[in-house]
Amino acid sequence: MAKKRVKIDAASCIMCGACVGSYPDDFKFSDEGPAAPVTGEADEDAVGVCPVGAISVEE
Ligand code: SF4
Repeated sequence: MAKKRVKIDAASCIMCGACVGSYPDDFKFSDEGPAAPVTGEADEDAVGVCPVGAISVEE
């Protein structure tokens, strides 16, 4: 699946771990707590795993 530039709204992240668990190469928990992109790019399907809609694709 194609990788797209993604961002995470840290204020919305509830730290459920779904993105980190499903796409460990693309997301990690930041030192501050909320998840963050590892490289800034992630599988575009990762947007759908976040239960609070905190992950979005940057067009
Ligand atoms: S799936 Fe969403 S709420 Fe869960 S850790 Fe990732 S960004 Fe945060």
